[in-house]
Amino acid sequence: MKKEVSLKVKSKFANKYKSGYPLISKESISNPNELSEEGSIIKLVDEQLRFIAKGYYGKQNKGLGWVLGKDEREVFDQEFFSKKLKRAFEQRSSFYKSSDTTAFRVFNGEGDGVGGLTIDYFDGYYLLTWYSKGIYHFREYIINSLKELVDFKGIYQKKRFDESGKYIEGDDFVAGERGEFPIIVKENGVNIAVYLNESAMVGVFLDQRDVRRTIRDGYAKGKRVLNTFSYTGVFSVFAAAGGAVKTTSVDLANRSKSKTVEQFSVNGIDAQTQDIIVEDVFKYFKYAVKKGLKFDTVILDPPSFARSKKFVFSAEKDYTNLLKEAIAITEDNGIIVASTNSSSFGMGKFKGFIDTAFKELNSQYKIMEEFSLPVDFRTIKEIPESDYLKVVFLKKVK
Ligand code: SAH
Repeated sequence: MKKEVSLKVKSKFANKYKSGYPLISKESISNPNELSEEGSIIKLVDEQLRFIAKGYYGKQNKGLGWVLGKDEREVFDQEFFSKKLKRAFEQRSSFYKSSDTTAFRVFNGEGDGVGGLTIDYFDGYYLLTWYSKGIYHFREYIINSLKELVDFKGIYQKKRFDESGKYIEGDDFVAGERGEFPIIVKENGVNIAVYLNESAMVGVFLDQRDVRRTIRDGYAKGKRVLNTFSYTGVFSVFAAAGGAVKTTSVDLANRSKSKTVEQFSVNGIDAQTQDIIVEDVFKYFKYAVKKGLKFDTVILDPPSFARSKKFVFSAEKDYTNLLKEAIAITEDNGIIVASTNSSSFGMGKFKGFIDTAFKELNSQYKIMEEFSLPVDFRTIKEIPESDYLKVVFLKKVK
């Protein structure tokens, strides 16, 4: 039996939980010090000690844990998790049927009813990501459910227990057979090399699938494409597959170069025909201006927060300036793909940054397309900040 702790919700927060908000925040609780062991069951009660909801204690970002249900008698046993997983997998049935796309998210945390856990599928392999020690306490139930529900080649896991989601090194293999990495998955017909055994990141961010397809199909043919914060270069590969005359990938990390070469080569594209540059993006912008370089399509997908030798970048503070640098090297009638995964602001504010950037340069733009998370990254309206992805395709008119 797991320990059960009653947490008293401050009156002004009670309605929030009653209407389905799942993240248990520290500020909303008057007796958070009662919590001791992650993985304990939390019972949320109002100031009159009336039951509101039930969940678990697991420290993550600003949260103390997640609500799992509103039935006071519910137990969080194997059957409970099995039901959640089953329903989530059924909702992805069209993804399982596709032979064109073999990598997708099958369980998306609170969007599928269990905050703190995601499960991704990579061509027969399952990757569990645990976002707190608390959810990891339930691992046996969850892994057993997974084993019962699906056929799999292998199961891997990532522990990201730290409050900032930092990855904990260790053997990530759980069950089945070990993969021979990289395994090659497909996304809309394009090959992607994936490593489930290396670090927190596997080589591709699945949430950008629809954006990559849109770039390939609508914004690449005959274009010079600049991909900044390019990581393993998967946006560049899609642009090249869509007929870009050349792609230029820029990332600060040394290993981004060999990783990008690999993504091109698993698609039969000679990486020698593309530019792959290891450099600070902000330095590259200065270089491009000095050399008079211009691009037809510029992809901007920075991390929410990053520190390099010379710069500290925070999407919330610095996106406007980043955009201004990009606008300066984009051709008239060129496209800027402005993307952010920051959950600290919403689409309204993001469009404000975009508007300010163009205004300050006396430049004009038109919004061509907009994206948020794809359907496999299921979200619920009760917690809008979980729908973190914002992507806007902008045409620089002049
Ligand atoms: N756009 C990528 C994901 C970006 S992940 C994709 O969709 O695949 C963030 C990347 O930004 C990391 O690879 C990191 O090395 C890089 N990065 C962070 N700060 C940077 C900077 N100042 N200049 C260049 N790259 C940077």
